[in-house]
Amino acid sequence: MRLSDGAADLVRLLRAAGPLTRAEIGVRTGWARATVNSRLDEVLEHRLVAEAGSENGARGRPAARFEFRSDAGTLLIADVGASAARLAQCDLGGRILAQSQVPVVIGAGPEPVLDAVTEALDTLPSRAAAARPWAAAISLPGPVEQPNGRIVSPPIMTGWDGLEVPAVLGPRLGVPLLVENDANAMAWGEHTVSGYADLVLVKVGTGVGAGIVANGSILRGARGAAGDLGHTYAPADEADVPLCRCGKAGCVEAYAGGWAIARDLTAEGLDVESVGDVTALLTAGEPRAIARVRAAGRVLGASLAQTVSLLNPSEIVVAGQLAVAGEHLLSGIREHVAARSLPLATRSLSIRTSERPNEVGVTGLADQAIRWALEPERLGEVLERAGG
Ligand SMILES: [Zn+2]
Repeated sequence: MRLSDGAADLVRLLRAAGPLTRAEIGVRTGWARATVNSRLDEVLEHRLVAEAGSENGARGRPAARFEFRSDAGTLLIADVGASAARLAQCDLGGRILAQSQVPVVIGAGPEPVLDAVTEALDTLPSRAAAARPWAAAISLPGPVEQPNGRIVSPPIMTGWDGLEVPAVLGPRLGVPLLVENDANAMAWGEHTVSGYADLVLVKVGTGVGAGIVANGSILRGARGAAGDLGHTYAPADEADVPLCRCGKAGCVEAYAGGWAIARDLTAEGLDVESVGDVTALLTAGEPRAIARVRAAGRVLGASLAQTVSLLNPSEIVVAGQLAVAGEHLLSGIREHVAARSLPLATRSLSIRTSERPNEVGVTGLADQAIRWALEPERLGEVLERAGG
């Protein structure tokens, strides 16, 4: 099922641009009419592109339009957090066809977690049984080295250090596998929805992490470790600086992470074990939980003010389990960012919680997976496996 390079270029163009006529394809690519026709024949024969109705031309003669077939295959998606994994099967346009959620304990090590992910993906009630998977994407709550998908010195992922996830999980799923950091996946999901080329997503759950989209791309840094907001130093105003899970003291996460809030509420005599217990108290309106979350918002705000000064994003989006705190969390962020960043950087800056906090990671991973599967060096393998 070999596809020529030119035909592969045409598939990528139609996926990115939406339906186009032959003439529009010619204008966008500079290809001669005969070249457009032969490449269209090729992608139509491979069933990667379909006719999408027609448009009335200037002389009244309808011109056929062609679009990328989002039902030509499916994507397997696993958005794995510290305590739960969301699994989904999506079409090639990122639409969720089936999904489920299973509990995981990320610190239990790769074997039980990847077993649970594989089994849950295998048992998804697929509504697109006929369409074979093209690629898979998994996000994990730790630093992911790119492009090899290796986990490097993760603070909470005991037993995962040095693991090249594609080598272990890819063969079990039977498709090429992309690995991403969880906050990066969510940041990309927000980008695909809002269209903003510059945004920062802060995931506040058990821990704290950030994903950065800059100039329309995920900002990864040299090795994939960019966005580690949770382990930046929080200016302390107390004598005993709290110890962080990473082994250092005074990290943002050691004040503002769900685990740190749970620790502090326990010290106040409340029965709190997990971030889920914290959100339950918030929902019930417990004043001590609200006070702790507001304090967490101020710590996050002090750190994000520096982020805003450095990156000048259009949006700061707060997601993760503690995003349910809403304004209790956002007010401290707003206050610090407004006080410390330049007016030019804050004038049109939006600070909000995610509108789809539970699904935005899946959205981001699906969009990344299809772009990745269509890359020139990968598309041949993807089609060969999907067609076999
Ligand atoms: Zn830390």
